Amino acid sequence: MKVTITEENCIGCGQCEATCSDVFKIEDDGIAHVVGEVKEEFKEDVETAADGCPTSAINVENA
Ligand code: SF4
Repeated sequence: MKVTITEENCIGCGQCEATCSDVFKIEDDGIAHVVGEVKEEFKEDVETAADGCPTSAINVENA
């Protein structure tokens, strides 16, 4: 699973971090970043976060 953020679309609302802080973190630049390796065990939460992103900035590619 590959997860990326379209940074120009992220408004830094924090929803993704609240949903899955193992994968998403709002950094000092005020937008979300993917932290570390995205393990399969986070798949469901990642998809919930992606679905809940108000600007559809989270991209999920399932390998
Ligand atoms: S939910 Fe979307 S807009 Fe909000 S911080 Fe995460 S990536 Fe950015």
